[in-house]
Amino acid sequence: ADVSRSFEGVDALQGVSLEIHRHEVVGLIGPNGAGKSTLVNILTGFDRPTSGAVELDGKAITSWSAHRRGRSGLARTFQHSHAFRQLSVRENVEVAALGVGSSPRRARATATEILGLLRLDRYADAPAGSLPHGDERRLGVARALATDPLFVLMDEPAAGLPEAEVPEFAAVVRSVRDDHNAGVLLIDHNMALIMDVCDRLLVLDQGRTLAEGTPDEIRENLDVVAAYLGESAVHEGDP
Ligand code: ADP
Ligand code: MG
Repeated sequence: ADVSRSFEGVDALQGVSLEIHRHEVVGLIGPNGAGKSTLVNILTGFDRPTSGAVELDGKAITSWSAHRRGRSGLARTFQHSHAFRQLSVRENVEVAALGVGSSPRRARATATEILGLLRLDRYADAPAGSLPHGDERRLGVARALATDPLFVLMDEPAAGLPEAEVPEFAAVVRSVRDDHNAGVLLIDHNMALIMDVCDRLLVLDQGRTLAEGTPDEIRENLDVVAAYLGESAVHEGDP
């Protein structure tokens, strides 16, 4: 809550508060440099706030390591691939499950299920480093899901996905919410995807909260629309 983060001379976040509940998809949008990735880093323990606190189920976890947060149900994807490039796609997913304490046998079963869900099974034995960009993004989501998370924070997971695969990706996000009962934070610049899949949106600009609300409310907030979503994005998002 009320998180701020300054890098030398740059206030990347200034008093931003965000609450994510299980079983909802919260969209985090805003122009490049708004502070979206910084917020994800702070929530998942890859960075520390200059001031403010992070809580999980009412417990202060600000001092917890990223690994401890991961084991407690906080999973994330990265804007840039963090896969082990020489390991196979399947091994990457298994390693993620092992990392939160799964038995090898259970990790294998988990990997099979998740590779199927994300349609990565055809690449199961290929080195992760050989994946096309869009599939690499999906591998990031697969590795997050392999930890059986309570919350999944996704930093531009659909960037580079061919347009034709976006609806299928939207279905995966809904499935994380509806079948895994997880809370999802989704960062993306594809407004059609965001408006389609999110229950609630937070709009950041230059480290501050610019607007918060349902997709309909955000769409009606003309200032936001004009400045950040752009004409085409608004029409694209309309039914
Ligand atoms: P977004 O993900 O919304 O594009 P970021 O959270 O990556 O934005 O960045 C927010 C601001 O913080 C930017 O001005 C960026 O240059 C700055 N910033 C992010 N990470 C660092 C860092 N490690 N060191 C210095 N400045 C940083
Ligand atoms: Mg970013």
